[in-house]
Amino acid sequence: MNNHKCDLCSEADDLIEIEQLGLEGKTITWLCRKCYLKLRLTLKCKNCGITISDFERTGLVGCAQCYDDLSLFLDPLIIKVQDL
Ligand SMILES: [Zn+2]
Ligand SMILES: [Zn+2]
Repeated sequence: MNNHKCDLCSEADDLIEIEQLGLEGKTITWLCRKCYLKLRLTLKCKNCGITISDFERTGLVGCAQCYDDLSLFLDPLIIKVQDL
């Protein structure tokens, strides 16, 4: 029985589960593949403007705020792609 939904659009199919370890413990974010890919392209650090693709190219973050704003992609503990 699986009743998870995308945190952004409530789509229930094609989900990706992202587990992170934060200050308050483990957090789990559910995203559908569409939102995941969109977020990956559009997410930016609010302070320095660095994107995930910038980070992947250089391996460097621009500032401390990057760790907060981009943490979903910088710091995932486990990424599980739901079986289709
Ligand atoms: Zn979605
Ligand atoms: Zn930054």
